[in-house]
Amino acid sequence: YRAKANRLGHHVYSSEDDSHGDTRLRTLQELRTALSEDQLVVYYQPKVEMRSNAVIGVEALVRWQHPTRGLLLPEEFLDLVEESGLMHSLTRIVLTKALDQAAIWQEHGRTLPIAVNISASSLVDVDLPNEIAAMVAARALPPSSLMLEITEDFLMSDRDRARDVLFRLREAGIQISVDDFGTGYSSLSYLRDLPIDELKLDRSFVLPMADDARAASLVASTIELAHSLGLRMVAEGVESGVAYDELARYGCDLAQGFFMSQPVPAPELENWLAARPALQPSDDV
Ligand code: C2E
Ligand code: MG
Ligand code: MG
Ligand code: MG
Repeated sequence: YRAKANRLGHHVYSSEDDSHGDTRLRTLQELRTALSEDQLVVYYQPKVEMRSNAVIGVEALVRWQHPTRGLLLPEEFLDLVEESGLMHSLTRIVLTKALDQAAIWQEHGRTLPIAVNISASSLVDVDLPNEIAAMVAARALPPSSLMLEITEDFLMSDRDRARDVLFRLREAGIQISVDDFGTGYSSLSYLRDLPIDELKLDRSFVLPMADDARAASLVASTIELAHSLGLRMVAEGVESGVAYDELARYGCDLAQGFFMSQPVPAPELENWLAARPALQPSDDV
């Protein structure tokens, strides 16, 4: 037993031992520190309404400002957050930061609704809708200033639960977007009966559009179907002007991607907005 304890102690603190399990253990410890010492930061990426070219909202995307490894992307730590039961804490931290930012923008006369990604594991928490409504109200924000991006796996996992959570969020005035649409197993006819405001077409459908006619026609018909069900369509991963123009021709409602802007810290987003030609209503930040 003693040897094991020593082993653990050694592995937690060693920075040279690189076997998989040890790296994990170290990272888990660092992750706890990250949450308790405020090392998570939120970047923002604009969502552009194609018809008007107006920025009608932003998506909040979490990053980890690691003390030695630099800025880490979600793909480098979200799985561990989930496995170690820390997703609840992360969700609340991101929601708090995003809503604080929305409140600051609102004070400056800029209405910029924020979309926050919520994992399926956080959504099954029965208290979430009430908590979110309270967080929004505490900052005197209209409920429409918050959108939640959820994934198809949540909708398909426990239909009754999903339906209940979504309806309670809808009652609270919170908007719902289905993220990475097309990568899961949900069908549009299933989504039709749920209180959903928009679909975000996964970038794996958008990226090949430019040089693949069949990919392009799949995108076009998915947009049409979404519209026939009264859903707004967002294309993610719009990386070029060619893709942007094509999506506009198909009647896609919103676009998000590197062609407009990468996810950036709030001050950079403000600079980017200020540098955009006209079309920005009440642009006085
Ligand atoms: P997502 O919600 O689908 O977010 C879109 C991802 O695509 C972001 O990656 C974004 O930086 C990237 N992206 C945006 N435009 C383009 C483009 O034009 N081309 C390409 N190739 N990529 C583009 P990011 O920030 O690394 O986030 C990855 C995923 O991590 C997100 O995918 C989301 O599922 C998850 N995530 C991010 N923040 C949070 C969070 O606060 N909570 C939870 N639960 N998940 C989060
Ligand atoms: Mg998202
Ligand atoms: Mg997405
Ligand atoms: Mg995605």
